[in-house]
Amino acid sequence: MNRTSEEKFDIREEIRLIPKAMVVLAALTFVGIQALFFLVFFKHDRHAPPLLAQLPLALIAGSLMAFFTLLIGYVNRDAKRRGMNYKLWTVLVIFIPNAIGYIIYFVVRQPIMGRCAQCGITVSPAFNFCPKCKFNLHPACPQCHRTIEVGAAYCPYCSAEVKA
Ligand SMILES: [Zn+2]
Ligand SMILES: [Zn+2]
Repeated sequence: MNRTSEEKFDIREEIRLIPKAMVVLAALTFVGIQALFFLVFFKHDRHAPPLLAQLPLALIAGSLMAFFTLLIGYVNRDAKRRGMNYKLWTVLVIFIPNAIGYIIYFVVRQPIMGRCAQCGITVSPAFNFCPKCKFNLHPACPQCHRTIEVGAAYCPYCSAEVKA
């Protein structure tokens, strides 16, 4: 079992990933959809549904569009921190219809990239050694051979001393 391949999921962390500009854009999208529905669609359509139905329709449409705007911002930043082609993925999720682009993205996305503790380059969590400086990214206890924290002085499982 590779300890570092498990990703902690914290919804607040994930939301914080969304760029501020996209949050503003999502809010504008929501307002824009309301304006479009009430000032254009319903106003000029003689077969428009009654006001009681108009309100939830516009709210749902606005919320959905705002949600997808936020999701575009999320995919852009998330793909970047995973070392994926984030520009390509941003375009794909926007243009593949019926939100299928998002589904594909969440299925195929790569694990979050880590950093070499010695030289600082970006490394995949799947790597055992840093490709630049050969640093051991997943040191194991010399006695019980379980994966231990980089820089640990003693094994937390069997208390064996770990030589740096
Ligand atoms: Zn390194
Ligand atoms: Zn041990």
